[in-house]
Amino acid sequence: IPVEPFDLVVFGGTGDLARSKILPALFRRSVAGQVPEGGRIIGVARQDMGVEAYHALIAQSLRELLPDLAQVPGALDRFLKQLDYVALDATQPEGWEQLASMLGQGVRAFYFSVGPGLFGALAERLRQHGLVSDDTRIVVEKPFGHDLASARALNATLAAQFHERQIYRIDHYLGKETVQNLMAVRFGNMLFEPLWNSQYVDHIQITVAEAVGVGGRADYYDRAGAMRDMMQNHLMQLLCLIAMEPPAKFDPDAVRDEKLKVIRALDAVKPHHIVRGQYAVPVGGVGQGYRDEVGDPRSITESYIALRAHISNWRWAGTPFYLRTGKRLVARSSVINVMFKDAPHSIFGEEAGRHANVLSIRLQPNEGITLKVTIKEPGPGGMRLVDVPLDMSFAKALGPENQSPPDAYERLIMDVIRGNQTLFMRGDEVEAAWAWTDPIIAGWQARGDVPKPYDCGSTGPGDAELLMRRDGRRWQGIN
Ligand code: NAD
Repeated sequence: IPVEPFDLVVFGGTGDLARSKILPALFRRSVAGQVPEGGRIIGVARQDMGVEAYHALIAQSLRELLPDLAQVPGALDRFLKQLDYVALDATQPEGWEQLASMLGQGVRAFYFSVGPGLFGALAERLRQHGLVSDDTRIVVEKPFGHDLASARALNATLAAQFHERQIYRIDHYLGKETVQNLMAVRFGNMLFEPLWNSQYVDHIQITVAEAVGVGGRADYYDRAGAMRDMMQNHLMQLLCLIAMEPPAKFDPDAVRDEKLKVIRALDAVKPHHIVRGQYAVPVGGVGQGYRDEVGDPRSITESYIALRAHISNWRWAGTPFYLRTGKRLVARSSVINVMFKDAPHSIFGEEAGRHANVLSIRLQPNEGITLKVTIKEPGPGGMRLVDVPLDMSFAKALGPENQSPPDAYERLIMDVIRGNQTLFMRGDEVEAAWAWTDPIIAGWQARGDVPKPYDCGSTGPGDAELLMRRDGRRWQGIN
């Protein structure tokens, strides 16, 4: 869908996120012809540099990250022509006139790719210096608070300067092609929705596994941990999309109202339904454990968490949701598995048809949706049954041009420009998620809970396996 010329200002334009995600996403959209001439992309940061130096910095990142696109004749030059740079300190009064003079009359988006401590100052300065029009949007990154009180304060700070319809709280998991495909599969077919409840679904597993450790984000991460960094936002959002009632329309508030109801229907998590872990170096292994990486031999921050959640409503009473996420695990893999119940009676013998139907929604790598079904093994060998995946991946179904769906940031940034908030978190959703998270963290603190060590490159602490096994269930593999 074509868009009108727009201006996009990236505060933190020299930072890691801007260089690794935001500007590459804009470059890809530019090559696709979706960044119309007449608009500007403006990096803003504290570093005192001219536009040529900024171009050199960004061109270098783009050549590294997108070597093929950067070689398309004229593509990089065209993009850099639209790219400007303004040096200013968000907490200081200087530099704003220069920024204002660069902006046109159309849609304006201000991307706050800076630490949350600057959100308030930025919002105020933008208003003060007359940069906010009715067509202005702001985009804010996680972390959106570190508990309910700070999230409320942050929401209040932004609400003092902007309407909720102007605030885009980004969660890049929602920008994944497969996440939207999940909604299409659920609500565009007759086949799934009648089975989408505790009568037919035994349980649901959501896994977001990372192979990397904390790396350069040690300072932030050690204060946050997996619960705040991943569970409260990404896994919670995926849970909402899986569990929500069908919205009346595919419109931002209809969808977000339904997601909010899910979070509010979540029971408090019982302490024995949570496992916390922290990666350690395996015996005789190489590399660094979590505590070495963050430089604190006594850190009790969790780098892994697995829990069993319950949604108390008519649809889901009796169907547990098992959520797990962690760093330094065996593979990078984000998958939602909807585990359907077994057929009530097997005419083929005891084991046949057990856990036959699993709907797997894979977010990364290899985005796609598969449904495991049981069929007869081909051949004359009698009635032997095998499980095969029914592949609903768009890449195969829709042809080679869909082999690489747009990156989440590309889609989400274009949604900001189009003014579509469906895939962004509303303030009340974020607060409700913290209201569920806070007592869990408070419980650990009160009990002096220490995370269980687990080996780098494993599937997490053994207790996470027990969490499932106690219920007579097993995690699907991480791959
Ligand atoms: P970074 O430290 O690499 O970059 C910060 C940027 O902010 C720099 O461009 C710096 O010049 C600018 N800046 C800092 N203080 C400023 C001020 N007073 N005025 C103007 N500019 C100022 O950080 P990052 O990794 O790019 O992260 C940015 C935000 O996005 C953070 O809130 C982070 O938590 C969040 N985030 C980052 C990632 C990631 O992958 N890097 C992922 C998710 C969320």
